Amino acid sequence: MSAARTESVANRIDALRREIDRHNHHYYVLDAPIVSDAEYDRLMNELAALEAAHPDLITPESPTQRVGGVPLAAFGSVRHAVVMRSLGNAFESDDVRAFDRRNAETLTAAGLLPADGRVEYMAELKFDGLAVSLRYEAGRLVQAATRGDGQTGEDITANVRTVRSVPLRLRGERLPEVLEVRGEMLMTRADFQRLNEVQQQRREKIFVNPRNAAAGSLRQLDPRITATRPLRFFAYGWGEIRLRHDGQVDLFRQEAGHAGMPQDTHSGMLDWFASMGLPVNALRRVVSGPDELLAYYDEVGGQRADLPFDIDGVVYKVDSLKAQGVLGYVARAPRYALAHKFPAQEETTVVLDIDVQVGRTGALTPVARLKPVFVGGVTVTNATLHNEDEIRRKDVRIGDTVVVRRAGDVIPEIVASVPALRPDDARQFEMPVSCPVCGSAVERLEDEAAARCTGGLFCAAQRKQSLTHAAGRKALDIEGLGEKLVDQLVESGRVKSLADLFTLNVLELSAYERMGRKSAENLIQAIDKARRPDLGRLLFALGIRHVGETTARDLARHFGSIEAIVRADEEALLAVRDVGPVVAGSVSRFFAEPHNLEIVAALRAAGVEPVAEAVAPEGELPLAGRTLVLTGTLPNWSRDEATRRIMAAGGKVSGSVSRKTAYVVAGEEAGGKLEKARTLGVRIVDEDGLKGLLGDI
Ligand code: NAD
Repeated sequence: MSAARTESVANRIDALRREIDRHNHHYYVLDAPIVSDAEYDRLMNELAALEAAHPDLITPESPTQRVGGVPLAAFGSVRHAVVMRSLGNAFESDDVRAFDRRNAETLTAAGLLPADGRVEYMAELKFDGLAVSLRYEAGRLVQAATRGDGQTGEDITANVRTVRSVPLRLRGERLPEVLEVRGEMLMTRADFQRLNEVQQQRREKIFVNPRNAAAGSLRQLDPRITATRPLRFFAYGWGEIRLRHDGQVDLFRQEAGHAGMPQDTHSGMLDWFASMGLPVNALRRVVSGPDELLAYYDEVGGQRADLPFDIDGVVYKVDSLKAQGVLGYVARAPRYALAHKFPAQEETTVVLDIDVQVGRTGALTPVARLKPVFVGGVTVTNATLHNEDEIRRKDVRIGDTVVVRRAGDVIPEIVASVPALRPDDARQFEMPVSCPVCGSAVERLEDEAAARCTGGLFCAAQRKQSLTHAAGRKALDIEGLGEKLVDQLVESGRVKSLADLFTLNVLELSAYERMGRKSAENLIQAIDKARRPDLGRLLFALGIRHVGETTARDLARHFGSIEAIVRADEEALLAVRDVGPVVAGSVSRFFAEPHNLEIVAALRAAGVEPVAEAVAPEGELPLAGRTLVLTGTLPNWSRDEATRRIMAAGGKVSGSVSRKTAYVVAGEEAGGKLEKARTLGVRIVDEDGLKGLLGDI
């Protein structure tokens, strides 16, 4: 190889080492990574491949030779009696087979291969948390440390003492003099989500994922904070072990093989730990040969999304401790173990833009357009940001680098932005003031997360929803105009607004799918009938936010004509019974929108003439100011019919009985409400009684 080429390789190696060191610092020391694990792994793999091709360029300081990061000086330091290593890792099944082949060869040479020629392994989960070492002396927890750089970790004893799943005392008799248990500290996804919610309320740091939350929680300088964090622990290995034999304490180190151990397999050791009260995960299994390893990988992979905590793969460890001793170690990892990683569920990418989509109900949803990124098995090009608050919470700006997560079949989401990589020209998202689909004004009410388009009747995005609503039984009651037909009418472009419905004819209707001539005729008849709706029903049909059936009726009765309602200002609206500022605001904004007024005019032009009820001053209506409750089945009137009549008589219908209830109207099979009426002494009437109350109305 030419000198120039070697030099460029050396430069690349140097650049990779610097970059990896930088990431290690963000990840291990600050608990705030700036690239995804997958990106980090790519850099590491590139470096390892270059070093393998140029062994002369390997130095002991290379990140391929060392684990972890420099421990924080703020904590006391703990020198590990036995080094804490990392794990070699593989993504492909071929690498797993090669790992097994190497083990089989070495163990054959050592005469340690079982008769069936298959190496026995203990397969278990690869927990995505952080490694800690717990030191028990005579069964008591005396020290806890992070892995740090493998040689020296941080003293986190006070913090670990607050973790409930870590026993402060081991159970059983004949406990070891010294037992250094190694395992993973982690947080469940549900706990992580709750923690982030609390953090957000307090305007404190939001964690990117459960691993960072666990690391950040454990490496708190104030143990009282750690105590509030829901951490879990699983034991998977050990460091120093000293056992008492015949009055003498013997040191056991895994490096030295298995002599003197109470168990001779890794799985046996974990069972022993469990018997002393240490948490050991149940999803571990002893398997033999590469096929069973791969089957375990697939099985766990299938369960991954359902586990309560994150895992990033599975780990295979040669089960026999004697065989482990023979296989030994390379620089940063044991040779007898392998981490088989799952495809990444998190990746980093860039937000190219934030668009707004308008949903069927008019809600405006910001959607991030992303630089395409392969994550969780699919290429992701956009991700919903839900609403403005969510964008502020995650502090996502256009141009930002963000962490995208796709776990299982769940839709991809933006987990967080990486402010450290924010370009100077990154832009804040602004919710548009007019709807991107129809141009109508956008409103956002104080107590709502979503911003909405106010062009309910006009907006193409909301057309289907608003027409189905308007045709409904409680609105214009157009029988035969169901959702499927509405879809067809809108999609063909024939019906653009409520008013267009009234211009349809039999001939063109019969051309639609599943529409015979007879049903077309029936529908046209139903539409004709709807040309003279009650004013209240028409108002309800308009789909004004916060204007339900009752409010629509109240408004109709109060104003008597649609023109009067259009003219009414908020103050006039507030004078209507039961209308508060939310409803008044919504009605006046609706009629301030020119598009909506155009549709009201078009309805008129299409011959729709609402009928105002005989407006009697409220006080004169027989049930004015009274609340009634219906229960059971009435002999002649349906619930809707009875409700309509009570409302027409100025009354209100409520779903629950209280002392304020004027009457309970009871039909057949009346239940708890009748009981309650009796208990409270509320008057009870039947259908005839109700008719009497209604007078002539
Ligand atoms: P690792 O996480 O790939 O594997 C070793 C670790 O696995 C052990 O230290 C232990 O904590 C853990 N582990 C979980 N279950 C285990 C089990 N059953 N048995 C044994 N160990 C188990 O290696 P690492 O050296 O800790 O870290 C490297 C990894 O960390 C990278 O591959 C990357 O995913 C991540 N990382 C990311 C960044 C970043 O900037 N995004 C930076 C540094 C490291």
